[in-house]
Amino acid sequence: MPEHRRRTRILATLGPSTDGEGVLEALLRAGVDVVRLNFSHGAVDDQRRRARAVRETAERLGMEVGILVDLPGPKIRIEKFEGGRAELKAGNRFDLVASGDAPPGDATQVGVSYLGLPGDVAPGDLLLLDDGVVQLRVEAVEGERIVTEVVNDSVLSDRKGLNKQGGGLSLGALTEQDETLIAAAADLGADFIAVSFCRNAADMHRARGIARSHGSDAALVAKIERAEAIDNLSEIVEASDVVMVARGDLGVEIGDAELPGLQKKIIRESLAQNRVVITATQMLQSMVDSPIPTRAEVLDVANAVIDGTDVVMLSQETAAGKHPLKAVEAMARICIGAEKQFAHDTDFEQAERGLQRADQAIAMASMFLSEHIGVRAIVAMTESGGTARYLSRFRSSVPIYGLSPHVGARRRMAMMRDVFPVAFGTRGLATREAARDATKQLFDAGLLAEGDRIIFTSGDHMEHRGATNTLRLLRVGEDGKAEGLGEL
Ligand code: PGA
Ligand code: MN
Repeated sequence: MPEHRRRTRILATLGPSTDGEGVLEALLRAGVDVVRLNFSHGAVDDQRRRARAVRETAERLGMEVGILVDLPGPKIRIEKFEGGRAELKAGNRFDLVASGDAPPGDATQVGVSYLGLPGDVAPGDLLLLDDGVVQLRVEAVEGERIVTEVVNDSVLSDRKGLNKQGGGLSLGALTEQDETLIAAAADLGADFIAVSFCRNAADMHRARGIARSHGSDAALVAKIERAEAIDNLSEIVEASDVVMVARGDLGVEIGDAELPGLQKKIIRESLAQNRVVITATQMLQSMVDSPIPTRAEVLDVANAVIDGTDVVMLSQETAAGKHPLKAVEAMARICIGAEKQFAHDTDFEQAERGLQRADQAIAMASMFLSEHIGVRAIVAMTESGGTARYLSRFRSSVPIYGLSPHVGARRRMAMMRDVFPVAFGTRGLATREAARDATKQLFDAGLLAEGDRIIFTSGDHMEHRGATNTLRLLRVGEDGKAEGLGEL
């Protein structure tokens, strides 16, 4: 087993920069665990083609790679420019035209498709475009036309997002377009569906209902990126499988000074509720152009790892950057470095006492033992990935092999810190035989060696979800098969 197997997962956004021959394969080889298809950009057909390429490439490489479909949500965007972009000069007038048929934009104006915008803004408001890079001060609202003054010299390009400082551009969360796209996500076999700008638990329940009605068992991701989501954080986390600290829009709506505290709070809340958590946006932003990250970016990624995130995300760095592979390599290297610094806080004094489920109880007992008797790995037979998720909520130094016969469960496990999904069919074996075969399989793959001690968890009824009720202490024998462990 390699000395430092990376434990933090990497989520990389696909786009034009990853479409080139061989790029996707290189990214997967460099350690991408889950890919994001950002449905805010690009045609659905392009995303479908990318999804197919991911499945084919992952299969060829023998990897379990998850696919996350990110819904656009009610994000307000400007329309396109003549020539793709415009240079704005501080002090100049620049108009936003809320109309379905505004002409292509230029240095004096651009269209906005959200027709309600003039009603949501007032003179004095600060509008932030492109995650705050471009700032416009509202001077007047004249019918469909919002007259603004450009705050600083900047470049604005096609379809950039628009927020109002302090929030309050209040469209609902799931748009009609989102509903259609959930069907498309189900159709392309998404493992994760991300709800942008969710406001409360009801938004998440609705998205889940729509996904299930289209036959998708995708995990639901709540993107925390508006003020109301912070107010309703606890119920949103409970209603989700995965939570994203969506720093781009969150920083614009709430102000960048609040971001570090909010990142830590969202990660803490997610872990406390046994949810998986992603830290996203501008993690290695300078690598869109530069082959190396800035020191500040290195520290940012490392700090997210130390905060306890499961996943770090790359956005434009891979989707539209000049160095997608270098960005993934940098991410992997920084995570591994940070993990070495990371104190294992398997703190059972703090651990939850009011356990609700048998799989949760077995997971907690396993982590307690793994700290106190020293084991090489935890091997979890898991139908849905649930046991692996409970195991991975403790930060320990022990890798967790999540063995499941279900490809969907394995791909969902690709998002969990410390968990390495492995295909394993139980084929109706009694658990003792399953333990023996599983250990042998990991031994043959070079993941276990003779003499290693392991914890093996399983259920009496292995074909049932949430049925884990057994913990075995085993030692890997000469032939790779498991033997019962007597002496500690
Ligand atoms: P986006 O979401 O990239 O879809 O905007 C992430 C964020 O806002 O940080
Ligand atoms: Mn966003």
